[in-house]
Amino acid sequence: GAAPSAAHEVQRLLRPDLRGRTPYGAPQLDVPVRLNTNENSYPVPQVVVDAVLRALSGDMATLNRYPDREFTELRKALTAYLEKQSGVAVTPEQVWAGNGSNEVLSHVVQAFGGHGRVALGFTPSYSMHPIISETLGTTWVDGLRSAATGPDAFDLTPESAARQAREHDPSIVFLCSPNNPTGTALPFEVIGAVLDAAPNALVVVDEAYAEFARPGTRSALTLLADHPRLVVTRTMSKAFAFAGGRLGYLVAAPELVDALRLVRLPYHLSSPTQTIARVALEHADVMLGTVEVIKHQRDRIVERLAELGARPVASDSNFVLFGGLRDEKAAWQALLDEGVLVRDMGIAGHLRVTAGDPHETTAFLEAMTRLAPTHV
Ligand code: PMP
Repeated sequence: GAAPSAAHEVQRLLRPDLRGRTPYGAPQLDVPVRLNTNENSYPVPQVVVDAVLRALSGDMATLNRYPDREFTELRKALTAYLEKQSGVAVTPEQVWAGNGSNEVLSHVVQAFGGHGRVALGFTPSYSMHPIISETLGTTWVDGLRSAATGPDAFDLTPESAARQAREHDPSIVFLCSPNNPTGTALPFEVIGAVLDAAPNALVVVDEAYAEFARPGTRSALTLLADHPRLVVTRTMSKAFAFAGGRLGYLVAAPELVDALRLVRLPYHLSSPTQTIARVALEHADVMLGTVEVIKHQRDRIVERLAELGARPVASDSNFVLFGGLRDEKAAWQALLDEGVLVRDMGIAGHLRVTAGDPHETTAFLEAMTRLAPTHV
């Protein structure tokens, strides 16, 4: 008979729990205004480009050697940055890094999740939390935000989070603050409530967007000293304007960080990655120079969308989720036809837009102004 098709053979041999799954897939389309993946629209400043190139040229001749497996200098640079940014003192032994915070999250799940264990998150939240958990064999439980008290009620109360944590006795709880895709920071009390309610869980607070939070937002970093089961993840992909550099990190108890060495692949951070990130961190003030402009564009989006009747959710991030759309798929396509790419998160009546530079933001708001009469 005929040889079986490759597609058939792959499906036959694939892990049964991976069959039929679709990969993470934000479209990478060539569109004038790309506001769909919460990147920072501003290029890396020239002084940093120059400094990175100088440092890299010193590295090239030693690429015959494996990199520093413990990324010692990079850890020190991250420690200094965290202390400056958050006011919380941490030590290099409390810091762990990977190729994006996605990799750091996968290390956490590899070490603390796995078959027979439950990870709990509160939907809608960052879509990679369930993907990482499930592809590593961990059972995912989709917790709920709020008691669906209204169409735009995406809040999570300490009581609701604690009740759900008690119910499922998870090994890992994912919190996201500010939350993607809704944009709002969690009430700070949720973190302590979940730590109390889930005594067998590692509690991960994903703070990818922390640098954009509105004044008065308190970081989970401030709780680390008293909570050995707490993990705070961050990334250089957003405020730091460094998504292509692929550098994410976490902060936790030194013993917890130590355990992650059981699962990481040796030399997971290449020498160029370590150098590029370290030099960029040494220029943190310049790298973060666009944060205030972006926050201003975000506030502009919230204000204007509200005027147009498209209900924006309060944002502590560099993006805005907005509702009130008659048909989010039609609105997404209509925006794309206007040259503006935003994100359909699969939430009925809602789309998510990243705050770009002033020109991109204006292009989006002008397109929305034209489209509002038919789509809002
Ligand atoms: N956490 C959240 C909440 C995010 O939105 C993202 C990026 N979309 C990440 C983590 C991962 O980013 P990276 O791997 O680039 O650090």
